[in-house]
Amino acid sequence: ITSRDEIGELGVAFNNMASAFETYLRDLERNDRMRREFIANISHDLRSPLASTRGYVETLMIKDEKLSQKERKKFLQIIHKNVVHLSELVSELFELAKFDAKQIEPAIEPFSIAELAQDIVLKFQPQSESLNINLISRFPKNLPLVMGDIGMIERAISNLIQNALKFSGKGATVNLELLKAENHVIVKIADNGPGIPVEDLPYVFERFYRVDKSRNRKSGGSGLGLAIVKKIVEAHGQKISVKCNPGSETVFSFTLPVWKKDLSQPRNKIKQT
Ligand code: ADP
Repeated sequence: ITSRDEIGELGVAFNNMASAFETYLRDLERNDRMRREFIANISHDLRSPLASTRGYVETLMIKDEKLSQKERKKFLQIIHKNVVHLSELVSELFELAKFDAKQIEPAIEPFSIAELAQDIVLKFQPQSESLNINLISRFPKNLPLVMGDIGMIERAISNLIQNALKFSGKGATVNLELLKAENHVIVKIADNGPGIPVEDLPYVFERFYRVDKSRNRKSGGSGLGLAIVKKIVEAHGQKISVKCNPGSETVFSFTLPVWKKDLSQPRNKIKQT
């Protein structure tokens, strides 16, 4: 014989099971929707440059003698641009697939994030100047070394700065800031461009997601940059977040663990602070 209490407990357990199952189904549906969207997007993104390339190649083949030198050159330039874009797209997709299959593991070692930040800002200086954007970096003195794969972290920060430059526009300010927290260094990339609408924020790290579909397709981005940044940060066991107050600031930030002296020796040239 079951008591009222036991029936009550059974009821609670049953309800918990039902809601867990509902969540599971919702996740499955979401994954399925994302998978279908991903395939639709990838088809579109591959098909349009391929169709354009095919058109120009066929014109070159059929009308070769009738084309002027100038036309021929223009067609070849378009073909080249398409091919470069396609090969970048394919290698980024391939890279994401390798992250998914856990075939890429970061080579973690201590390095100076302050030096890396300075190098990256220097690398982007000519581009930011030509866009009339003020690119600055800010960090406290004696920032500790962090643990990470320096090549991957350079890639992540560069992708975020590239986006900040691309989407913020003339006269904007892009700020790469490093902050010391208890056991972490916080890496922040902020810009005061038009920002990302609140309803788009949860999706910007998804593959092929672009806020302004038409404009961004023309601007040539693959829509995979932020997905790669997220994979890199997660491969380091860390999290990335984005905050935006439209009209004021868009801030992407992630953390890196501070190097503990006793764990391992720095392998790179960097002086210890
Ligand atoms: P893309 O190749 O289009 O740059 P990303 O994955 O890097 O792809 O970014 C996804 C989308 O997020 C962009 O298309 C853009 O709409 C939005 N976005 C990213 N960074 C910023 C930023 N700093 N300011 C405004 N929008 C941004």
